[in-house]
Amino acid sequence: MSSQPQERRNRLEARQAHIAKQKARITWVVIGFVVLLGAGLLFLLLSPHVNKTKQSAVIPETTSTVDPLQQDTSTTQTAQPDPAPKPENKWDSYYKAANEARYQAYASENPETPYELVVAFVNAGVDQMYINTEPTKNQSDISVLANKHYYLDESYVPSDLVDVGGGAKLRKEAAAKYLEMKDAMGMKIVADSTYRSYAEQKYAYNKCKNEFGLAVADREFARPGFSEHQTGLAVDILQAHFDPQGKAHFENTKQYAWLTEHAYEYGFIQRYRDGFNDITGYITEPWHWRYIGVEAATKMKTEGIATYEEYYGKYGETGL
Ligand SMILES: [Zn+2]
Repeated sequence: MSSQPQERRNRLEARQAHIAKQKARITWVVIGFVVLLGAGLLFLLLSPHVNKTKQSAVIPETTSTVDPLQQDTSTTQTAQPDPAPKPENKWDSYYKAANEARYQAYASENPETPYELVVAFVNAGVDQMYINTEPTKNQSDISVLANKHYYLDESYVPSDLVDVGGGAKLRKEAAAKYLEMKDAMGMKIVADSTYRSYAEQKYAYNKCKNEFGLAVADREFARPGFSEHQTGLAVDILQAHFDPQGKAHFENTKQYAWLTEHAYEYGFIQRYRDGFNDITGYITEPWHWRYIGVEAATKMKTEGIATYEEYYGKYGETGL
C-alpha cells in the first residue's frame, strides 16, 4: 500500500508540472499580446509617413509607364492630388508673339538681361534705335512713348499748351503739376526748355550735325520727331537759365536732390538716368524731367522701375 501515496504524489507532481507549464504558456501569450499591441500602436503612429513614402514612390512609377495621352485619366483614377498649376511668366501679360524673333536676338546679345526685361525693352523699341522706326501709337496721350524708335508726326502739336513762365510751354496737366511741384519745393528753379516744335528740333539737330557730324548730333539732340520735348510733357529744369558750370552741374544741387525724392508725387520722372544709357539711348540728363502722371510715376517708384522704356514695355499699351 506504500505505493499508493507514492503514486498519488507522482500524480500530484505531474499535475503541478502541467499547471506550471500552462502558467508559462499563458505568460508567453500575454507577453506576445503586449508586444503585438505595442507594435500595432507604433505602426499607427508612423502610418502617415508610411503612406506618404508609399505614394511618392508610386507616382513616378505609374506616370513613367503610362502613355502621356492617358496620363490624365490614370491620375484621376488613382485619386492623385491635382498637379501644381503652371507657373505664370512675369512677361505673359505683355509678351507679343510678333516680337519673338527680336526678343531672341536681344536676349542673345544681352545674356545678362532677365527675360522679363528683354520683353519690355524690345516692346519699347530699345533693340532698334533709329532702325525700322515706327510712329508712336498714342502721341496725344499723357503716356506717350517718344524715344529713338517711336516718333511723333511732323505735324503733331499738342492742343493744350500753356505758359509756365517766360514763354515756356507745357501741356495743361503737366504745367499745373510742374507749378505745384515748384511751389512745394520752395527753391529757385527755371523751366529752361519745355515744348519744342518739330521745326525747332530739326533746326537744332541739323545745325549740330552740319558743324560736328552725325555722331555728335545724335548724342546731343534727338532727331526731329523723336524728341520728348515735342510732346509738351518734358521740361529741362535748372537753377538758372545759364549755369557757368554746365547743365550737368544740376546733379549736385539741393533742387535735384529734392526732385529725385519728390518729383514722382507730382507725376514727374527723371527720364535719362545714369547707368541706363543703353536703354534710353541718351547720356545722363539730370535736368530732363518728363510728366507721365502721378499714378504711373508712383508705380515706377514703388516697383523700382528706372526707365520709361521698361515701364512702357510692360504697362504702356495694357494700361496700369
Ligand atoms: Zn530735355
